[in-house]
Amino acid sequence: MAVIEVANLHKRYGGTVAVDDVSFAVEEGEIFGVLGPNGAGKTTTVECLSGLRHADRGRLTVLGHDPATERDALRQVLGVQLQESGLPDNLTVREALALFASFYERPAGTAELMDRLGLAAKAGCRYRKLSGGQKQRLAIALALIGSPRAVILDELTTGLDPHARRTSWDLVEQIRDAGVTVLLVTHFMEEAERLCDRVALIDSGRVVAVDTPAGLARRAGQTQRMAFRPSEPLDEELLRALPEVTGVTRHGSRLEVTGTGNLVQAVTSLLARRHVIAADLRVEQATLDDAFIALTGRGRPA
Ligand code: ADP
Repeated sequence: MAVIEVANLHKRYGGTVAVDDVSFAVEEGEIFGVLGPNGAGKTTTVECLSGLRHADRGRLTVLGHDPATERDALRQVLGVQLQESGLPDNLTVREALALFASFYERPAGTAELMDRLGLAAKAGCRYRKLSGGQKQRLAIALALIGSPRAVILDELTTGLDPHARRTSWDLVEQIRDAGVTVLLVTHFMEEAERLCDRVALIDSGRVVAVDTPAGLARRAGQTQRMAFRPSEPLDEELLRALPEVTGVTRHGSRLEVTGTGNLVQAVTSLLARRHVIAADLRVEQATLDDAFIALTGRGRPA
């Protein structure tokens, strides 16, 4: 059974269609990305999943619960970190965690969580004095305080510097490694590419594609290019015979191979069968960025 299921979600605000028709399923133990430009409908989707907004149409299930009608049960199993924390400025880190812990049947230990999230030294610090990265880590801690089985993280790293962003990425991987299913909302291609097992690409309230980041990049159909120096003489015709290969050129001792699909795998398997080593191997592959442009026909979102 999927941990989170969204089927044909539709939600409008007055005359604005925020989510037109969104469907996806998040499997247990994965980091699932909801990726798309600003205004695509990502936040509205996760607010419906969190029970904060009601869908106009569609079926939503989180660990067997309907977010619209079973909010109390949902809160015990789903942790939510949304963009705005709404915490009072004067609350300390320790107080915020203790307050939130009191809402749950099986809260995690506050000291242990502060340790895990690098907040122990800031336990007595007031919310308004925390840095952007520390506020984000507190928001994650608050999403985890109820020992949830799944967690929604919305635009986790927006506004963070590159170092703090990387720290947050490590944290998300630790959360998944601890057995918590993660739904990650982001408009950063690099973040989705680095973290997500699968991604739903959303544009104008619709799902454009659901796949692994590599699968999406492949669908972009972009030409891939690999270059290497074969350790033994290699008949170029063998490379040309591979269905994935569209071109082979030789530059001195280096071979450059272009193609599509699983090009790298096809070429490296051929080399392995022939006991040829690819020295100085360089691979240029399509990225999620290319996929986004190819699949939506638009410029890159971030
Ligand atoms: P994303 O999270 O992908 O940026 P949102 O779900 O926030 O997208 O927004 C989707 C669309 O719905 C946008 O056009 C946005 O302007 C509109 N929208 C979001 N919230 C509201 C609201 N409370 N009232 C009216 N329109 C809204």
